[in-house]
Amino acid sequence: MNVLVLNAGSSSLKFQIIATDLERIQQYKDDRILRGEVDGIGGEAIVKVRYRSEPSKTVTAPLRDMGAALDYLLRYLASDRSGIAEIKSTADVHAVGHRVVHGGETFKESTLIDDRVLKGIEDCIDLAPLHNPNNVKGILAAREVFGSGVPQVAVFDTSFHSSLPEQAYLYAIPYHLYRRHKIRRYGFHGTSHRYVAFRYRALRGLAREQTNIISFHLGNGCSAAAIKGGCPVDTSMGMTPLEGLVMGTRAGDLDPAIVSVIARKEGMSSSEVDTLLNTQSGLLGLSGLTNDMRELQAELKEHDDRRVRLAVEIFCYRARKYIGAYLAAMGGADAIVFTGGIGENSPNIRSRICCGMEWAGLSIDETKNQQTVGKERLISTEKSRLQAYAIPTDEELLIARDTVRVIKGESHPS
Ligand code: ADP
Repeated sequence: MNVLVLNAGSSSLKFQIIATDLERIQQYKDDRILRGEVDGIGGEAIVKVRYRSEPSKTVTAPLRDMGAALDYLLRYLASDRSGIAEIKSTADVHAVGHRVVHGGETFKESTLIDDRVLKGIEDCIDLAPLHNPNNVKGILAAREVFGSGVPQVAVFDTSFHSSLPEQAYLYAIPYHLYRRHKIRRYGFHGTSHRYVAFRYRALRGLAREQTNIISFHLGNGCSAAAIKGGCPVDTSMGMTPLEGLVMGTRAGDLDPAIVSVIARKEGMSSSEVDTLLNTQSGLLGLSGLTNDMRELQAELKEHDDRRVRLAVEIFCYRARKYIGAYLAAMGGADAIVFTGGIGENSPNIRSRICCGMEWAGLSIDETKNQQTVGKERLISTEKSRLQAYAIPTDEELLIARDTVRVIKGESHPS
């Protein structure tokens, strides 16, 4: 089954086509045919497609909206000039899997999309006003292009965290606010945390119930999850992705009184402060330079700028505090797992986060750690009681697999 995986943003559409089915999943023989992105939708858009291991091809076209982008993309993929053997028409796409950011309390697992489900996703727009509308646009565009004959599945960023206990998901605010407005912790990056938990137990030959890890997804957005017996018991992102770790442009945890202080002192509205905390803070706000960890590290090597140093130090310190908190929340863990652009590719940051954690039985093998960039590997010493792994994430693979499993009626996936 050729599954088109879509991740629709405000003016972008990331996509992959992965051939998979229940047998291939079992044998780990999923076949990634192509991947790419349409950028600049709404104007002169740039379409980048990489077919297998060939160099990527780029074409440009004026694409007014998501529907036009998907329609153009499929016509391009099916054309001779793309050189893609497997896709000769839209009929060669057999199912569509969508990344959907917020599933609220409604969607506890990946779900086949019908009108009722689409309405449910729209109802969650209130909880994720920046993300869910784009996901809805992606679903509607796919309906338009493929018609009702091609099944579509929604895979939610929140659903892996649906097992959180009340003590982890309730905020200590008047309870009626939870009842009235569903103000609670939902958690995000669920597909990524779920994928690395799955790979961790595959690497160690463990059952789901034996999976006791603290996973860190460190990319532009960053989150930690405490996974006990295979299910999250706590996670750092909250009702929105703003809470928790220091991120590229998000502040993470802070005293909520600061919001009204900034509003008053800077003459800003609450939604302007919200934007400041989401887009001007984190590594960017502290360093005053960039949200990009790689650039910050390059800058440190050259100039040892004080604010850049502070940004990186605070990023690592705040992550380390979550290790301590989650060890307590879980009653101990077996491993720390790092993923995401920073977690997969920056030995230095992993090392700094784990620094001084010998008291908890965690010691990093610096040789292995430094050699581990973009690959799966144990990076702690043989003797380390609390192990550490780097595991590249693959949310698209999990979305493709869930799409197949949901269509085939297989109940809860790995
Ligand atoms: P997103 O959350 O947008 O998917 P990614 O997971 O791609 O983002 O992560 C982006 C972050 O990873 C950026 O801060 C980038 O600088 C960082 N990163 C990627 N490679 C490296 C590297 N080799 N060293 C340090 N940071 C890196």
